[in-house]
Amino acid sequence: MTTVGILGGGQLARMLALAGHPLGLDFLVLDGAADACAGQCAPLLLGDYDDPAALADLAARVDVATFDFENVPADGARRLAADVPVFPNPDALALSQDRLAEKTLFRELGIPVPDFADIVTRADLDAAVARLGMPCILKTRRLGYDGKGQFRIRETADIDAAWDALGAQAQATGLILEGFVAFERELSVVAVRGRDGTFRSWPLTENRHVDGVLSTSLAPAAADADTVHTATAHARAIAERLDYVGVFALELFCRGDTLLANELAPRVHNSGHWTIEGAETSQFENHLRAVLGLPLGDTAPRGVSCMLNWLGAMPDATAALAVPGVHWHDYGKQPREGRKVGHATVRADDAQTLAQRLTELGEALGRQSQVAPVVARLGASTTAG
Ligand code: AMP
Repeated sequence: MTTVGILGGGQLARMLALAGHPLGLDFLVLDGAADACAGQCAPLLLGDYDDPAALADLAARVDVATFDFENVPADGARRLAADVPVFPNPDALALSQDRLAEKTLFRELGIPVPDFADIVTRADLDAAVARLGMPCILKTRRLGYDGKGQFRIRETADIDAAWDALGAQAQATGLILEGFVAFERELSVVAVRGRDGTFRSWPLTENRHVDGVLSTSLAPAAADADTVHTATAHARAIAERLDYVGVFALELFCRGDTLLANELAPRVHNSGHWTIEGAETSQFENHLRAVLGLPLGDTAPRGVSCMLNWLGAMPDATAALAVPGVHWHDYGKQPREGRKVGHATVRADDAQTLAQRLTELGEALGRQSQVAPVVARLGASTTAG
């Protein structure tokens, strides 16, 4: 029996375990919280990601290790890698933990990015705001996710407030100032690279965020062949440079024909959840195949899918399941404001049927405002043929 170790026991580890059981895999999940939701689907090892004893214990009991969380300390991952194969490699993990290093690499690879500046002092911030212009966004270089650790600067008066909010972290984690991109939409490429270098990507996904947190993902995104080609080539170039093994997501801002790279998520990604029912092989299964050196599965879509995130508390499953094409994922978490507690994927064979199903689901759950932008988008793409 092969055992996969996972650092981090959230919903991503949980869905990895659920995808791995049919492959005959066992799991061992390392997390500091006894109620980590992956623990309902796989054995849980209680411990910190940088605790040498916990890492040694994990290494002794697994054949290969991976992550469900990109903020696992890279040094902990390196320590683990001395004892057991770790994919993606800890250097790729370390790079994606630093927004400055990440954007610098993108630029080096010829991938367009929003303007950015390294900020260490208040004087750096003033100079960078003058150079980049407003609006702009001050972000922590490290440990930010879902819009956390970010401050938007709209006018001069906001500079003080931004520094008050994040300046203390300039020394600890570093800061980056980014030009604000007036994007038309956000896309992500979810892709996988195998141990032998085989690369595959799922169709582009169009994502909508509310307050910095993903709300909906629609796939395949309507995109012309050039856009698909460019986005996929960017993802491939990054994966090859990092000798990446496993699934990752590249988040892109799309404005007209221009694609600007925002960030790399070195793990299975929320914008790829639709692949569980909406693709021949899910991101979770292909991640496991990749880290185990197994042949990768087909990433072709099965019709059209929309994933809706549930934050705070789960909606009424009974009402939702009455709608055709709805697939329900309850992560088994305690409700808490803003917490990702589950998602639904609605699948259909064509855009029009998907729009009808989403409308029905929105009404059944009182979530009309969440589905409305996707329904409008589907209407536009259907009209455009
Ligand atoms: P991030 O944590 O960098 O993925 O940011 C979370 C969300 O904030 C993104 O998905 C965007 O919706 C928004 N955002 C981040 N950076 C920028 C930017 N430079 N310009 C415009 N919007 C941004």
